[in-house]
Amino acid sequence: MKYDTPRIHMSNIQIEIVKEIKILGLLVDEKLTFNNHIKEVCRKATNIYKPLARAAKINWGLNSETIRTIYVAVIEPIIMYASSVWAPATQKLMTQKQLNTVQRGFAQKICKSYRTVSLNAALILAGLIPLDLRIQEASQLFEAKRGRPQPTLKGRKMEKRVSFLNAPHPSEEVEVKFQCLEDLEPETVAKHAITGFRIFTDGSKMNGGVGAALSCWEAGEEIMSKKFRLEAFCTVFQAEMYALYQATEVALKTNRNTVNILSDSRSALEALGSTKNSHPLVFTIRRNLSLLRETQTITHLFWIRAHVGVDGNERADFLAREAVTKLKTKSSYDRCPISFIKRTIRQSILDEWGKRYKNGETAAVTKIFLPSVEQANKILKKITLSPLLTQVFTGHGGFSEYLHRFKCKDDPGCVCDENVDETIFHLLIDCPQHSRALEDLHQQIHINLCKNSIPVILNNASARDPFLNYCVKVAKVAIERNRTQ
Ligand SMILES: [Zn+2]
Repeated sequence: MKYDTPRIHMSNIQIEIVKEIKILGLLVDEKLTFNNHIKEVCRKATNIYKPLARAAKINWGLNSETIRTIYVAVIEPIIMYASSVWAPATQKLMTQKQLNTVQRGFAQKICKSYRTVSLNAALILAGLIPLDLRIQEASQLFEAKRGRPQPTLKGRKMEKRVSFLNAPHPSEEVEVKFQCLEDLEPETVAKHAITGFRIFTDGSKMNGGVGAALSCWEAGEEIMSKKFRLEAFCTVFQAEMYALYQATEVALKTNRNTVNILSDSRSALEALGSTKNSHPLVFTIRRNLSLLRETQTITHLFWIRAHVGVDGNERADFLAREAVTKLKTKSSYDRCPISFIKRTIRQSILDEWGKRYKNGETAAVTKIFLPSVEQANKILKKITLSPLLTQVFTGHGGFSEYLHRFKCKDDPGCVCDENVDETIFHLLIDCPQHSRALEDLHQQIHINLCKNSIPVILNNASARDPFLNYCVKVAKVAIERNRTQ
């Protein structure tokens, strides 16, 4: 745009126009590219990497878990500081490259791999998500929490916290207390002086559905009941809360002097007692309770132990289950809990990472062992990755073909046949020097070892360990021989 540089004066002093300004630790530039900010945070992270790299070698020094802790607790927060502001910049190739360089070093140190290992292979073995995707995840969550629609949430609305500005004045807050009941035997009823109208509430989550219900009793008989369906992503807590909310609505409409509300969810009742809880349902229930107080209705809240044969409680439980299985109406409550939103965004980021890993040109060897991100995360949880195993999984290790590729050895051939490259797969599958050990392995696991069957073997709980032991044994022989040559 064509415009003249504006001139601003305050009390006859000219305000200087600058190209860049630092606000709350964020470098904002004239064109909002954030290039300088990203450069600066990457520099900070690299400065921490340098001394760490000297103290964390493959076979000695800081161990994987320590480096992971440093990475998660120090490096990610430094880089991701205020990242929801500059998250759009991660779409740029240049930014991605800068972030990749920083992250690759740490990922290699965490999985104790050689420095030649590619970013994708190192990330998968270290169990990390690419930084640019992590930043996009954080920014999406930030926006979703502020109620802005996110494409990954497909129009679902977030359960927004109530602003403290809407909360009642502390002097007008009602005190909400509940009593605990083990049963509803006549002695208990007498002890707590429970008289009159009783409303039992319950929530239920099962078979991918969520329901809530209440059952109203008077003089030993049910006089009314209500069932509600909640969206499948809602939590049991939300269902219990919703049932309590509906109970207060019923209490407001009846003309009775005393109302007893009985729930078997202690966490829901405890949440009602806190004035600091900004959950929207807690807020509405507390408002209803204060309205009840104004209309001179005495409301008692009780926690009752579930499944001890109290008729009303069993009935509410039954109705809540029925709401899940039988009710086909529009859901009464459809606000996403934050846990669901976190999960959904994380899944979409993992899908994106999975695509990137699968379609990437690097990590060819690692992909044979761990073909997908999903499978890698599952398997790596079950095994402890030793530096030797990392050499096997990446192919970057003391094998002739690798040593030749990086000009550390003249000849890439195997001892069995100089015309055949000594790769990790040759050693594991084809090399005659290990045919005896391979035969033993086949006897043990009953799966024929080939490139295609490796993921199957790793997925198989009883075959996994014998196979990994075989890998380590075979790799050790080759590495030992190449070292002494
Ligand atoms: Zn061989």
